[in-house]
Amino acid sequence: MTAPIAKLSFWGVRGSTPTVDPATWRYGGNTPCLELTAPDGTQFILDCGTGLRMLGSRWRTPNGGGNPETHIFVTHYHWDHIQGIPFFSPLYAENNEFHFYSFRSKFLGRDSLKQVFEAQMALPYFPVDMSAMNAKRKFKEVEGGDTFTIGENKITAKWLNHPQGCLGFRIETPAGTVVYATDNEPGDPKLDESLRELAAGADIFINDAQFTPEQLKTTRKGWGHSSWQEGVKLAREVGAKTLVLFHHDPDSTDRMVDSILRQAREECDSVFAASEGMVITLGATGDNVQAHMPGARTSLRREAQFRAKVSGVTEDGKAFQEETVVRDISLQGALISLQNLPQLQSELQVTMQTPGENGSQSSMRLKGYVVRIDAGAEKGQVAVGVVFTD
Ligand SMILES: [Zn+2]
Ligand SMILES: [Zn+2]
Repeated sequence: MTAPIAKLSFWGVRGSTPTVDPATWRYGGNTPCLELTAPDGTQFILDCGTGLRMLGSRWRTPNGGGNPETHIFVTHYHWDHIQGIPFFSPLYAENNEFHFYSFRSKFLGRDSLKQVFEAQMALPYFPVDMSAMNAKRKFKEVEGGDTFTIGENKITAKWLNHPQGCLGFRIETPAGTVVYATDNEPGDPKLDESLRELAAGADIFINDAQFTPEQLKTTRKGWGHSSWQEGVKLAREVGAKTLVLFHHDPDSTDRMVDSILRQAREECDSVFAASEGMVITLGATGDNVQAHMPGARTSLRREAQFRAKVSGVTEDGKAFQEETVVRDISLQGALISLQNLPQLQSELQVTMQTPGENGSQSSMRLKGYVVRIDAGAEKGQVAVGVVFTD
């Protein structure tokens, strides 16, 4: 018998508002949306941020069309968790069936999520009205403390500490347990305890890490979010095995998220920063938790031969250094010194010489797009920023 496997995909990881700033491109700019496929084929979607549109465009019916049923948990009604709904194309297909779970908001009353749908699609906020949404939609109210079963999976919801309320979800599958706890600020003893219960012994604990520990203590206190340090502390306390830092601040560049991750890794063995396109499998033999980064986030690739010295740290924490050859390089862009002044936003051909296998020369030809022009380091030259397109 093969081991049961669950697959968790990250479609949106950014908090508060989507970002399209190139400096946030690597971790990604879409707001929260996760997909979990349990070993029994049940499909779960966690939150409906702008990442939901991408999930919709790659939509495949769960269970190979046999039982096209999907269960969607919405943690709360802030924009960044609902904004993808009108853009989720499977909602416009008659054969699909969606079960939505969320809480009754005191600001909205009965059928809160249904009202959110209607309000989002009311004229003049969206060009088509609800009648175009042909998929079957069922709404279920849940609240903190509720437990229920879907297929072979046990779900628990708990309240988190966030303005206007928020639910965290624990999904226990035969392959392992995933806990999704975003939009939470530590410091309320009762709700801190409810988060500890939710996260106890989880295989994957996805936690709000929007702010730095310094921001959380000072300028961002009371904003309803957390830090990597609180996540590490809690994961350790309750024996959560892998921590995923989530809900990155829209002002956090990729370098800033890198630095947050680096600090977290100094204190915790198994931690990842959520990244758009990242897939974590759970329950596979060997390592219980495996993370993959599919090619979607890498840029233009070219085969080349560059001799290189590589140094880094192994999985067991040992420093290493070795010499090797880079055979496949991904390129986003370059800064090139030129005597000619190309037109901004025009196309450039760039041919680079690369050393071949036995000292021979070969060349790499790339087409690019001029994105910036600055004064060059030397007189009579300009520094041209190029983004490679093919
Ligand atoms: Zn949020
Ligand atoms: Zn929120």
